[in-house]
Amino acid sequence: MSDLTLQPFFWRPTALFPEKRIVSRTADGVTDYTYGAVGIRVRSLVAALQDRGFGSGDRIGTFGWNHHRHLETYFAAPLSGAQLHTINVQLGDDDIVYIVEDAADDILFVDPGEPFETIERLWDDLPVDEVIVMSESIPETNVNAVAYEDLVDEYDPVAETDLPDLEEDDPAGMCYTSGTTGRPKGVEYSHKMIYAHAMMVMTPAGLDVSERDVVMPVVPMFHVNSWEFPYAATMAGTTQVYPGPAPSAADLLALIEEESVTMTAGVPTVWIDLLEHIDEHGGDLSSLERIIVGGSAAPEEMMRRYDDEFDVTVEHAWGMTETMSIGSVSRPKARMDEWDRSRKYEKRRKQGLLSPGLEMRVVDDAGDEIDWDGESAGELLVRGPSVVTEYYNRPEANEKDFDGDWLKTGDIATVDEDGYIEIVDRAKDIIKSGGEWISSIALENALMAHDAVVEAAVIGVPHEKWQERPFACVVTAEGTETNEDELLNFLDDELDQPDWWYPDEIREVQIIPKTATGKFDKKALRNQINRNPTNE
Ligand code: ADP
Repeated sequence: MSDLTLQPFFWRPTALFPEKRIVSRTADGVTDYTYGAVGIRVRSLVAALQDRGFGSGDRIGTFGWNHHRHLETYFAAPLSGAQLHTINVQLGDDDIVYIVEDAADDILFVDPGEPFETIERLWDDLPVDEVIVMSESIPETNVNAVAYEDLVDEYDPVAETDLPDLEEDDPAGMCYTSGTTGRPKGVEYSHKMIYAHAMMVMTPAGLDVSERDVVMPVVPMFHVNSWEFPYAATMAGTTQVYPGPAPSAADLLALIEEESVTMTAGVPTVWIDLLEHIDEHGGDLSSLERIIVGGSAAPEEMMRRYDDEFDVTVEHAWGMTETMSIGSVSRPKARMDEWDRSRKYEKRRKQGLLSPGLEMRVVDDAGDEIDWDGESAGELLVRGPSVVTEYYNRPEANEKDFDGDWLKTGDIATVDEDGYIEIVDRAKDIIKSGGEWISSIALENALMAHDAVVEAAVIGVPHEKWQERPFACVVTAEGTETNEDELLNFLDDELDQPDWWYPDEIREVQIIPKTATGKFDKKALRNQINRNPTNE
């Protein structure tokens, strides 16, 4: 019996649905081609990788948005026996260098424009020798760079029968997730894990991606394999629409209208933006049936608006990099069909039912399972074939974040009598803004490095568009003077992170509440700030 690898994920669409379309928006314009052509180009790319000596044991880094060339690397890297490592283009320079070094990437596939400029700037600090620019041509540069299209043109496709044999435990993918303390942590996916998770995404009990859909994956391809849509939709032979670099709401709407997209997926911010855009300029969502929303809690108001005004069902999903994204989806059960709308929304707004293949435990501080009463809360632990059991190279995090093969998610959840989970808090001290992580501890440490700051605590406060934004409280030393602008500049010097990392407000306070053990009591601080959200 053959192993559970990505080989059939490549064979099925190229052999059985060669005429189905992939539409992709890039800086070069819109590419509209077929799975048949994808198959040939992927095999040329495999030849190019093999010619460079890459295969088993090597890591192919990618640094780009959602488009057809990135999709081709999703297949070419693992089919050549190597591992695909997707890197978040929105990270700060330090984290990018750290991640490329930690993963020891052998070559980078990079988007033209800003991502390439970032790599050019960091070139001397990166341990790679060659960059493939995912475009038709390359700009003048000191970096050893080749244009993707020249590479594909240069090599004859490897015959399908000559693709290397793969084993299900071979590493196939990798993605870094933010750590509460310390550096981002690498999460590795084997062929078998991708197989299991993509199957889960395809099944009706999962996300029900089918050949009849037109799928537009909006969640970036550097975030947990774009929640597995590129693999699941390809395996299903689905028409796919890739929205390209940093798509605006107008770009997404145009693609939905032009390509009659039926299903799409991404973080709440994107769909809130789209509603605002349609409010102002109008728009036609008549083709759209479903939006999968996750990464942060989907606001019920937004779900209702899509439902009422556009007849689009928002399906609320929960997941983590460590669970290969989707780990639960909220849909009413069949026996709830007769319930009225509000009662159904009580289920739909939750993070929902665990996806097939996974098991969960929700435990209190003493390690005992909580009652499924919708009120008792505890930490959510999950395990299953698509859940990692360790981080790459991080023994201390492995010790803390796993209990045998159970992943401790750091999410605090309740479970109701019907088995629906609801995430009510986060045990991990981290802020998630517009789907991207911000380390509260890194901000606190940097603030406390300032001469005038004695104590600093950073919390996430609710935000209509970004779901959460960082808010800092500082206690200053007597006789010192500082102000918000100075502290923000200081943070930028210390951390050198992108602008969205820095607090929306830094407030001077007399004291920061503490717990009995002397730690910052973030819960109390959150309550305090929520009661008094502005300084006035
Ligand atoms: P992803 O890229 O899938 O968002 P991350 O690993 O970056 O994965 O983030 C996972 C964390 O995001 C979860 O542990 C949880 O704290 C939060 N999260 C994900 N989905 C939801 C959701 N639907 N509701 C609330 N929090 C969520």
